[in-house]
Order: sequence, then structure tokens, then C-alpha cells
Amino acid sequence: MKAIELAKKCPPSSTAFSVGAIIVGKDGNEIASGYSRDIDLHVHAEESALSRVGDASLREATIYSTLEPCSFRKSRPTTCTDLILASGIPRVVIAWREPSLFVADCQGVELLQERGVEVVELPELTDLAAAVGMPTSR
Ligand SMILES: [Zn+2]
Repeated sequence: MKAIELAKKCPPSSTAFSVGAIIVGKDGNEIASGYSRDIDLHVHAEESALSRVGDASLREATIYSTLEPCSFRKSRPTTCTDLILASGIPRVVIAWREPSLFVADCQGVELLQERGVEVVELPELTDLAAAVGMPTSR
């Protein structure tokens, strides 16, 4: 999954996961992509990708992310879960549920599903996403 390649580009961090995200249109074309800390030290991958969408319609788009969208964050008032809901994207594909490392119980998947967003998990990619995404010990 290309989002995992993006996650590998993230500047290393000991206090945050490395995540890649891609927004793809109905016909499979890439609309936008982003990865953790590519714009500034606190930006999340989904947030970064969504900021690059421009005026493209996301009504039939899918966002692929290596990690479950956050439902709580310290660095910004708006979570990626809220940003995705606000964007109107109807489908989210993730490889890895957020482990209870920084946030005790991430509710991103549950919140999205409650609002009618289809969430697809790819368990076969979890190990790879986690290996790339875990914070570095430096
Ligand atoms: Zn986030």
C-alpha cells in the first residue's frame, strides 16, 4: 500500500506515530497525499492530505491511512476523525488501529462508523504499518 511508503518518509519522532495517507477518487486517481509532520511538526497525515485536496469533490473518494484517524489529540483542536467527517469522504481504509500508547482508547473507527462512513481494515498490512509507524527511541 502506497500509504506505507509515505509513512517511511516521515521525519522520525519519539512522541508520535509515523503515518501516511492518500486520498483516491472514484476512478482510482490520486487526489492528494500526506504524511506525518510533512508540513509542520504537529501535522497528521490525514490532515496534511486533506489540506491539499483543493476543490476536488470527495463525495466518492476513499482515504487510505496507515493508522486509525485520531479521535483525540493534544497538538490541535480538530481531530482527523472530525476533518474526515467534515470533508464528506464516505470511505476510510486503514491498516492499523491506534495502539494505546499516547491515547488510551482511540475512537476514530467507531466515530466514523456512527456517522455512516464505511471503514475497511486491512489486517494483513497491520504488522508492516506498525513496523514503519512506531515512534523511534531516539
Ligand atoms: Zn490525526
